Amino acid sequence: MFKALGVGEETCRAIEEKGFKKPTPIQEKAIPPLLEGKDLVGQAQTGTGKTAAFGIPIVEKTEVEKRVVQALILVPTRELAFQVAKEIKDLGKYRGVKVFAVYGGKPVRKQIELLQKIRPHVVVGTPGRVKDLLERGVLKLDNLSTFVLDEADRMLDMGFIDDIKFIYGKTPAQKQTLLFSATLPDEIKEVINRILKEDREEVYIEPQKPTVETVSQKIYRVDNENLLKTFLEKLEEIPFGKAIVFTQTKVEADRLAKHLRSLGFKTAPLHGDYSQSRREAVLRDFRRGRINLLVATDVASRGIDIGDLEVVFNFRLPQDAESYVHRIGRTGRAGRKGIAVSFSPVSDDDRFIRIRKLVGNSFEFVNLSEKPLLKGLLKGRKKKSYKR
Ligand code: ADP
Ligand code: MG
Repeated sequence: MFKALGVGEETCRAIEEKGFKKPTPIQEKAIPPLLEGKDLVGQAQTGTGKTAAFGIPIVEKTEVEKRVVQALILVPTRELAFQVAKEIKDLGKYRGVKVFAVYGGKPVRKQIELLQKIRPHVVVGTPGRVKDLLERGVLKLDNLSTFVLDEADRMLDMGFIDDIKFIYGKTPAQKQTLLFSATLPDEIKEVINRILKEDREEVYIEPQKPTVETVSQKIYRVDNENLLKTFLEKLEEIPFGKAIVFTQTKVEADRLAKHLRSLGFKTAPLHGDYSQSRREAVLRDFRRGRINLLVATDVASRGIDIGDLEVVFNFRLPQDAESYVHRIGRTGRAGRKGIAVSFSPVSDDDRFIRIRKLVGNSFEFVNLSEKPLLKGLLKGRKKKSYKR
């Protein structure tokens, strides 16, 4: 129970409304020392509830009557800025904590206006935009008490180290510093040793079953009409040598493969209507790299073992949850790293919920739709407003 960790009544109520029944392991270990004011390093794979692990102590410690920025959370991407801000906003709603997300790609002037209007207690942002706002003098960190680096390994991979140093230099010496990362390469350890206090708390969480630990999973929830568009965007964004796209039906496999070919992808469909010899030929081409994007139905996927398959796309989530585990298990084999990227149109929320039940929160969930998650299946969850 969250109450037993020292979380106050209002925040417990907000947590309950989010549908969290009990703390995840990282929340259990991180929340008490964070409430005490300790620095902290948290290592855990995605989907383990790191956001609330730092979000809950942040909303608890916010001095609501002081309208100054008290916590700054740096994240690598716009999507995350938005998502993390939303979660902290939810958690802090009964305490009256104001949260604001800043990120690139939006006109800076508009953001400055909002920043000055909202006067947030908590700012979540990407390093580039935060630095920009600091340089313009519109974001002030003089009263900052908590500084969080979320997904630190990804931020470093993305080349944000100089921006982060700049921002860190603008924070007061007296503060609590938190760093979360899925991995702890030497570079990150150096950062930890440089900016975190020596008596920091360190929390490491072992990955959990049943999904393959070496596959990092992401699920995008999209409005039905945006499915193809979002899929194509991600297909362009995510680099791969070889990838499979799973479709629901044979017709869909044929159609999608045709479309992808017209866009210049080296692709072929694979499904149960093709003769055995044709299927073997397609697989051979795939193994040899003559094609590098296979568009397949579930039927065709059984037993496929392509060692250098890097990415599995689920154009839509499969109907049964076991298939999901099976599909994404096509990658990340023999200890290699794999990526699974799935798209879930809102009309398939029931599938998403079944899969979540089976695999737990082993995936990163990116909600690109404004529509509420299928109501009947979220027992006891109240409607909430999305106002800033
Ligand atoms: P991470 O940052 O570790 O990748 P997130 O903080 O994004 O993970 O959490 C993943 C998902 O799990 C989110 O949808 C979040 O709302 C949910 N979640 C977090 N904590 C709990 C909990 N205690 N119980 C149930 N769901 C939770
Ligand atoms: Mg996270």
